[in-house]
Amino acid sequence: MTDYRYLIVGGGMVADSAARGVREIDPDGSIGIVSEDVDRPYARPALSKKLWTDPEFDWDEKVDLHTEETGATFVLGTRVTAIDRTGKTVTTDDGATHGYERLLIATGGKPRSLPGLEPSERVLDYRSAADYRRLRALADAGAHVAVVGGGYIGTEIAAGVVQNGARVTLVDPDEIVGGRMFPEDLATAFQQRFVDHGVELRLGRRVTSGSETDTGVVLTLDDGSVVEADAVVVGLGIEPATALAADAGLTVRDGILVSSTLRTDDDSVFAAGDVAEYPDRILGTRRVEHVDNAQQQGRQAGRNLADADETYDHTPMFYSDVFDMGYEAVGQVSTSLRTLEDWQEPTVTGVVYYLDDDQLVRGILLWNVWDKTDEARKVLAEAHALTTDMLPGRITA
Ligand SMILES: Cc1cc2nc3c(=O)[nH]c(=O)nc-3n(C[C@H](O)[C@H](O)[C@H](O)COP(=O)(O)OP(=O)(O)OC[C@H]3O[C@@H](n4cnc5c(N)ncnc54)[C@H](O)[C@@H]3O)c2cc1C
Repeated sequence: MTDYRYLIVGGGMVADSAARGVREIDPDGSIGIVSEDVDRPYARPALSKKLWTDPEFDWDEKVDLHTEETGATFVLGTRVTAIDRTGKTVTTDDGATHGYERLLIATGGKPRSLPGLEPSERVLDYRSAADYRRLRALADAGAHVAVVGGGYIGTEIAAGVVQNGARVTLVDPDEIVGGRMFPEDLATAFQQRFVDHGVELRLGRRVTSGSETDTGVVLTLDDGSVVEADAVVVGLGIEPATALAADAGLTVRDGILVSSTLRTDDDSVFAAGDVAEYPDRILGTRRVEHVDNAQQQGRQAGRNLADADETYDHTPMFYSDVFDMGYEAVGQVSTSLRTLEDWQEPTVTGVVYYLDDDQLVRGILLWNVWDKTDEARKVLAEAHALTTDMLPGRITA
């Protein structure tokens, strides 16, 4: 059995920032990172963006997070199967046991799958560097790639792959690409970029079944039509990987429930990142599947593993880049809310506010408006004192 002062389950973006957070407080305590992934932590957003659009974007320099700089010991390609909180150990799928004094659960999420299609060389759920390497090989060979799901990863992949000369078909249940997040005029402009770049759109359609052949995949849609492709990228989002925590008797709701110091209901066990449900200072209890949260919350979890006992008080932003369009956002960005648009140039530069039934601002989309996330956080924090006539002109490029 190997014992660590700090043991991190999961080797993603939180693992990197947490190991660095530990080192801010404790220069010497041993850190172990057990990860199912075969690669050391890397910047996941690059997998769907810069690695497709910037030939100079170097893995070693820009994507690998170089977590080894913290002196952490890695156990890669290994899944943790159980946590024993009484004995303070975890068990892995190769039968090994690792002891801990402090444990951080940073297992992220498990991608949703399509009926009839298990992940394979041609069915990519697109979470890992291995998925990137496989899709890159397919795209370089001029494959026809079906992308299912028009959320932010699906749209980024569709844009990235088509810009590399491969054929792309995008399938989404919405009638318009981006329709769940953007008001209609913006979604229309967003969708037009996909049309202009030659992405074939199958909108208003769901995949009802899929099968893999020797040479490709066949997707049957809910109108009976069929999409045949060399590979499919399944971009249907994730379910938080909470099973380990639940099996260990920790409280799990939408995610693993943690306090403002990122502790679970066991004082020695913390959780952070995509898997954690935490009390946000401005937005209330929530779980966030974005990189700013993974980095800031991971760092705070690391500091608190090493006894800093500080509150996580950062309200995270998120971002996406697709073709020549880009945005940052804070809070709830969903057309299930009412939208108020404040354009400097329509659908090119401006701000969209998302309001609930009481006319309170719940989310803010900054479209080609940069370095304004602090102003957006301020608006969200002061939402109770703002009426809608006070919003236009409040945040500008
Ligand atoms: C392709 C892609 C693009 C993205 N782009 C953006 C973006 O543009 N903007 C943005 O804000 N966010 C983006 N994200 C989201 C962002 O990367 C995540 O929010 C972030 O990585 C979450 O960090 P995490 O450590 O919680 O989870 P992850 O980084 O997913 O890491 C979880 C790790 O846990 C491991 N694991 C799971 N279960 C076990 C187990 N039982 N035992 C051992 N290991 C286990 C996994 O193998 C993985 O290594 C993107 C994500 C992807 C996949």
